[in-house]
Amino acid sequence: MSTESIKDGNYVCPVCKQPLTHKPYGLFCQKDGVEYPFKNGIPDFFLEDLTKSTSPVLQSVDELDDLAKIYEGPSWAGIYDAFNAELGLPLYEDMQKMITEMVDVRGRVGLDVACGTGALARSVAGKMFRIYGIDISIGMLQKATEYAQEMGIRNVHFARANVERLPFPDEIFDWVTCTGALHTFPDTGKALSEMARVMKTGARLAVMTFLKQGLPPMKTILERLEASKYFEEEALEAIHLFDVEKLENYLSQTGFKGFAYDVYGPSILFHAEKR
Ligand SMILES: [Zn+2]
Repeated sequence: MSTESIKDGNYVCPVCKQPLTHKPYGLFCQKDGVEYPFKNGIPDFFLEDLTKSTSPVLQSVDELDDLAKIYEGPSWAGIYDAFNAELGLPLYEDMQKMITEMVDVRGRVGLDVACGTGALARSVAGKMFRIYGIDISIGMLQKATEYAQEMGIRNVHFARANVERLPFPDEIFDWVTCTGALHTFPDTGKALSEMARVMKTGARLAVMTFLKQGLPPMKTILERLEASKYFEEEALEAIHLFDVEKLENYLSQTGFKGFAYDVYGPSILFHAEKR
């Protein structure tokens, strides 16, 4: 399928990957007989009840919805800056800049996985043909939509979707980014394979995640996050602690090549190309 085939809202069924029909209240898959509802105009491709998920990270979606209310606001910036100061993490804004510099955004079609309130998408929207953002939190996506509308941005599209079942056809994206979320996905291999599926050959993936053996150690960061009360202990326990070799193995097993990385304190920024 060409890039042109995913115009505004032209997602595909995340299960069978067939085109969807527009209905007043959602997007309908004729093959599966399933309707994916719009929530405040945002397509929701998550049909399962996440509060009953076996993944503690997915179960914690309500906390993410709460977090969305303060995300990008002064109180979250305060918490985040305190982390930065103590843990040696790059500033969130700097991190996003580094991530977007790793991909060539000019005139292209991109996907930001776990887009949160859409900061990355907004920052590159002026240079882009079209950009998509997916997240599990409808609260985050509502904020993302509001911010984009306030700024008059029209080429950014947000949807609630599972990284393991993306609502996009094969090989349509020129780049994919994922900042601060890979370690939270229940199955790293499945998530990376699915990202590879929707990328064109040679397209670049840019990721920021955390290392087990960073300085300070990931354990310290998790303790701090737990103390912040925005995350449940069980969800934090389910976070993957990567090392560089493990990440490289995942990437080569899921269809990527050219792994290159930089380490900043406990975080790793890496990129790789789809084979
Ligand atoms: Zn379907």
